Formats: sequence, structure tokens, C-alpha cells
Amino acid sequence: MKINSAEILCVGTEILIGDIINTNAAYISQRLASLGINQYHQGVVGDNPARVKKFISEALERADLVITTGGLGPTYDDLTKETIAELMGKKMVLNDEAHRRIKEYFDSRNRVMTENNVKQAYMPEGCIILQNDWGTAPGAIIENEEKGKVVVILPGPPREMKPMFETGVVPYLEKSSDYYFVSKNVNIFGMGESAVETEIIDILKNSLNPTVAPYASDGEMRLRVTAKTESKEEGEKLCSDMIEKLKNTTIGEYIYGVDTCIEEALVIKLTEKNMKIAVAESCTGGMVTEKLTTVSGASAVLDGSIVSYANEIKNKMLGVSQEILDTKGAVSEECALAMAEGVRKFMSADIGISVTGIAGPTGGTKEKPVGTVYIAVSTDKKKECVKLTLRNNGREYIRNVSAKNVLHLALKSI
Ligand code: ATP
Ligand code: MG
Repeated sequence: MKINSAEILCVGTEILIGDIINTNAAYISQRLASLGINQYHQGVVGDNPARVKKFISEALERADLVITTGGLGPTYDDLTKETIAELMGKKMVLNDEAHRRIKEYFDSRNRVMTENNVKQAYMPEGCIILQNDWGTAPGAIIENEEKGKVVVILPGPPREMKPMFETGVVPYLEKSSDYYFVSKNVNIFGMGESAVETEIIDILKNSLNPTVAPYASDGEMRLRVTAKTESKEEGEKLCSDMIEKLKNTTIGEYIYGVDTCIEEALVIKLTEKNMKIAVAESCTGGMVTEKLTTVSGASAVLDGSIVSYANEIKNKMLGVSQEILDTKGAVSEECALAMAEGVRKFMSADIGISVTGIAGPTGGTKEKPVGTVYIAVSTDKKKECVKLTLRNNGREYIRNVSAKNVLHLALKSI
């Protein structure tokens, strides 16, 4: 069966009234886009069989496929499955395998299986059953060959829905789609969204396949390159050609990676160069180190970190001279450089990095307003300090962007 268009229906009164955020729709939408399946409408209804039925029957007029999440549990309002079976002209039949699995699930937890749990093992006749290895309610792919329409039903809890979607639905959709979508994120640092757009406006406007779309997040930029093709290889080729093209423009020197983040790029580079890093943090309070340690393999390249909040610690542990602290202050170029060098020597690392600044909301002065941050790097061959003047978008923003900036400074320095 060919599937070119789809709609998502998330069932649950909690979503409708805003008690939970509809992350299932966001997740499935992104995956559908990457599979080349168009989506023009999307829905949420409460736990109400009549409205579920109405939405799906209308959706099947517009699209080849409807994917539902939620409403599969054993509770009284979980009527999605029965409603859809009726709509697709299928009887509900007991599925032995699903029954066995649900029983096993309860036995292994020493819980008693009730009659309404058995209800979960009834499935529309002739459907493809998506066994649930992560919970109890199985999902299903229900095809109506005659009409060329498909309904996929998935459980509501994201930790069950996602793996079921990846292992059961994606392979089915890949077989059914005419196209492949390949997407790559080009990571850019040190250049704002409008500057990037100005530099590559022709590419942004004229590229239809692959398309290039800019996205900004705290202190960083991404270009999402998406190719729609008949084969995965062709898509990969179109994307890599476009990435080459982007690297050859004036923004090229600001591109630090593809499908990565700064901390990951830095850990990879340090590993390649067999170098060790040491970190001294003031206003980020450990955030730089936290980012680095989210990357697997960080333990091989990170010696350690000193969170030197008090001047006394900057002086005693990092060797920032009392003179610098007295005359220039803790938020100064001199202090940042001394911190980077101090921590590098203290830990006998190859590279030392530091950050000191005013994250606000208090503590700013006329000379050093909130958002004034000094970041520095020290190796045995060079030392460099950069003064950041960040927008006062709040303490978290300033700390986060400062941390990203010092990681990027380290990346550029090796
Ligand atoms: P259960 O067997 O747990 O009852 P179910 O398939 O009946 O599963 P729901 O009862 O609709 O699913 O939802 C169960 C839980 O899953 C919700 O309380 C919510 O935490 C989460 N959930 C449901 N739908 C969504 C959604 N669209 N986005 C994010 N989380 C969801
Ligand atoms: Mg439920």
C-alpha cells in the first residue's frame, strides 16, 4: 500500500485541557517528515469514542494514513481500538500472543490480571499487531486494502509509544513510502541568525531539494538541510553536496559540525589530539563541566574542574594574584587568563579554560553590566581571552551561553 500523507490523532482529555504536553505528536511529526510523508492536519480529542470516530473518518478522506496515540489502556474510557475496528469494518478477536504476553507481564510482577486487562488482548481481525515490550497494551496496524487506507494505533505513554513506533511502524512506513527524506543539521557558532541569513540568502531562497532552513537557539544556529529522494543514498549525496557548498561560503568558518553539539565536537577533537582539558568556572558554577560530561568518552579527556566562586579560592587554588583581584576584580580579562592558566598547571592538563562574569540579575555596574563575561583559554603555547557582552535575557541564558562560548573557544584553540 502506498502512503504519501498522514494525520496524527492524539486521544486524551489530559492533552485537551493542557494537563500534559502533546510530545507524542511532536515526535511522530518529526519522524513522518524524515520519512517523506506529508502531514496537513493534526488532531487532539478527549476520551470520547464518538469524536474519535468522527475525526478518523474525516481524516481518512484527506490522508492515506491516520496514526493515533493513547486510549489503549484497560480503563473504561479506552475505547479507541474498538471504535477504530468498527470504522475499518473489522471484528475484534482475541489475539493469543497478545493475551499470553499480557498474562506474562502481570505474572512477572506478581500482579493479578483482571478481566479488563484481557480486553487489551482483543485486536481488530487481520491487523498487524505491534507487541508491547515496554508495557501492556499492544498497538496495531489496521489496513483496509479496498480503500487503500491505514490506521495505526499506538499506546499513549511516550516510553512505550516511541520504541513501538521505531521498531514496528517505521519499517512498515519505509516500505510504503515513495520517497526518502534525509535530514542533516549544520551547526554554526559565533554568527547570529540574521547574519547567517544575509550571507547565504540565495541558497536559502533557491534551494528546493535539498531545502535549507535556519533555526536559532540560545547563542547557537542550525541549518537544517533536508533532501527528498527516491533512495537513501541519493539523499545522503544531495545533503553532503549542500553541506560542502555551505562550507565554501562566508559562513564556512563558523560551521563546527554536522548533527553534533559543541561539547561533543570538543570531546572528539581532544580525543583525536590526545589532549586533556581542565576547567575553572566562576559564574557558570559547573555548567561547562556538566556539558562536557554529558558526552560519552569525556572521562578520557577531562582532568577535572574547579568551581572557584569565592575570590579566596581563585587565589589559593588557581593562583590568581591578590593584586589582580584587588585592582582588576574577579570579572576581568586578567582574572580569566590567570584562572585558565592556574587550573591547567594545577591539573597538569594540556589546555585550561575559564569563565568569569556577571550572570545577574544583581551585581551589574555601569562599567561591568549584567552579561559581562570573560572567557579564556591557556595552553603552553598560547593564551587568549574573549570578552562577551551578552544580552540580559536572564541568569540561565547568560550562564548557558557563556558555557557554550568557552567550549567553542577551546574547540577553536586546538
Ligand atoms: P495506559 O495503559 O497507560 O492507560 P493508554 O494507551 O490508554 O495507556 P492514555 O491513557 O491515553 O494511554 O495515556 C497514558 C499516559 O501517557 C498519559 O497520562 C500521559 O502521561 C501519556 N500520554 C498520553 N498521550 C500523550 C501524548 N499525546 N503526549 C505525551 N504524553 C502522552
Ligand atoms: Mg489509558
